[in-house]
This record gives sequence, C-alpha cells and structure tokens, in this order.
Amino acid sequence: MTEPKNAAPPEMLFSKERNPTNIQPAKLTAASKLKFRCHPGVSCFTACCGNVNIVLTPYDILRLRRPLNLTADEFLLRFTTPTYLEKTDLPGVKINLDENGRCPFVTEAGCTIYPYRPTTCRYYPVGMSYFHAAGQENQPAEEFYFLIKEPHCKGHEENKEQTIGEWRLDQGIDESDAMNQGWMEIVMRRKSFGLQATLSELAKKMFFMVSTDLDKFRSFVFESSFLDTYEVDQETLEKIRTDDVALMLFGNRYLASSLFGTKDLKIREAKIKAKVEAHKGKQQDAESRAEETYKDLVAARDEMRKALEAEK
Ligand code: SF4
Ligand code: SF4
Repeated sequence: MTEPKNAAPPEMLFSKERNPTNIQPAKLTAASKLKFRCHPGVSCFTACCGNVNIVLTPYDILRLRRPLNLTADEFLLRFTTPTYLEKTDLPGVKINLDENGRCPFVTEAGCTIYPYRPTTCRYYPVGMSYFHAAGQENQPAEEFYFLIKEPHCKGHEENKEQTIGEWRLDQGIDESDAMNQGWMEIVMRRKSFGLQATLSELAKKMFFMVSTDLDKFRSFVFESSFLDTYEVDQETLEKIRTDDVALMLFGNRYLASSLFGTKDLKIREAKIKAKVEAHKGKQQDAESRAEETYKDLVAARDEMRKALEAEK
C-alpha cells in the first residue's frame, strides 16, 4: 500500500471535539491557497488514523462495503458503533476503533481501503462549515472552508501548494459531497431548527435504518405496505430494486418527506382520504363519548337534586 492517506475528522457537520486553537481563524473559499501534502514519506504517516471520530454518511457506508464485500448488517456489526450526529438527536454510526484507538483499516503502509475511504478522511486537514446566523434558519446556510493545523500533522510543512478547489478534486470530495448532499441537507435542517420539535422514536429508527442499512430499507420499500402509502413511478421502482445508489438517493427523498413533510414523495390519494376519515371517525368518537359523558353527568346531577329535594 503506497498511496498516501489523509485521515482524521474534519470539523464539518459532525466530528470529535477539537481543540479550537488547532482551527485557523480565517474563512477560506475554493480559490484559497492550501500549502499541504500528505504522503508515505512524512514522519507522521498514519498518525492521524487514531483517536478519531469518523461518522459515516450513507454513501460512505455504501462505498466501504464494496471492497469488503459485506452486507449492510455485517458491515455495521463488524466496523461501526452507534452514535448521534453532532448537535442533533439523529442516530448514526461511526467507525469502531480497535483496542489501541486506531482505525481498523490502517496499517503501517497506510490506509488499506484508501480509494473507498470515508468523506471525513478525504477532507482533512480542511474543514467545511455551514453557518446559519441566529434567527435565519430558513435562509440558505453560509458555507466556507477553514484549515485545521494540528501540531502532529507535518503535511503543512511540505512545499506543495494548490487551491482548496484543486484539493477537493484530487481527494474525490466533489463526488462524495454530491452523493452526500441530500442526506446532509436533512441533517442540517434538523440541526438548524434545534431540538424544539421533538422527533418520535419511530422517526429516529427510520432515519437510522435508511441512513445505515440499505438492505433493510429495500425490504421495507418492497415488502411492507410502503407502496400502498407512497406513489412511486415504475422507472424509479425498477431502479431502486437493484441499484444501491438510486435507493440511497430515494431514501433521502423519503426521509425529507416523512420527517419534514416535504413534497419529495407523493402520498396516495386513497391513503390521505383514509387518514382523514380515520381522523374524522376518531374525532366523532371523541365527540360522542364527550356528549355521553356530559349526559351521564347531567343525569347524575338531576338524580342528586331529586334525592336532596325528597329529603327536605
Ligand atoms: S479510513 Fe483510512 S484514512 Fe480514514 S482513518 Fe481509517 S485508515 Fe485512516
Ligand atoms: S501529514 Fe497529516 S494527514 Fe498526512 S499522515 Fe501526517 S498527520 Fe495524517
């Protein structure tokens, strides 16, 4: 394994708590210059693959499963541990470190799954921030980059200079971000609105299943009453039956629609009518129960009145 590795958690949507003094205060753009190079010759090679918090996106999981040739279940069991996505109540998974606090994919020669490494590892030492000013949660987030300069990382002493845009391309970040975008938006949306609105346990479980286990999500779509509830065109159905990436992107549409009521997926008319009827039925039930209770109370009061008058 001769390829360089670039690992460690960026301070983006979720990551381990970082010493703020390691984060450079300047806000950077894609055109900003980055002087950095990571390669097997650096004295710190693989130093950053330990004590890291690598939260996995659905695309990270999908990509990592390829070389490992594992089902979602097997992968999750062997290589991950549950966690919460930073500053949200949304459950996700992170890479399980070994007993020495090292990533299970690192060897002395570097990252053994380098072409498939997670988004977090690709970003380091650049971080990306999505910033919402207070009270502007409905506005598009301000995006900017920043540099993480940790004392142990000697890549900053190398002479290679490039723009952040070039760095992103070289690390395959553009592709990762494009694949992660829909899911990131859901996480950011939850994060922006804070925890004022509670999310049911069922909604959290759904989020976890769709985000981590596409095998289960596929069974859920094709083997439950899902398709009685949602209208999904034939072309999409054919695609998501066999294509994991298409299923992952469809999963984002389902999450946005079920968690935030977006129109990403259409609920069948019959289902809506049945819901409205059930609601009406419940309301009528409640109203007639209340009326009966009221009548019982009036009758009881009249009985008491009669009894009191009879005693006079
Ligand atoms: S996945 Fe690869 S690059 Fe990332 S921490 Fe593990 S060994 Fe390092
Ligand atoms: S140069 Fe930085 S990113 Fe590369 S191995 Fe060393 S610590 Fe990790």
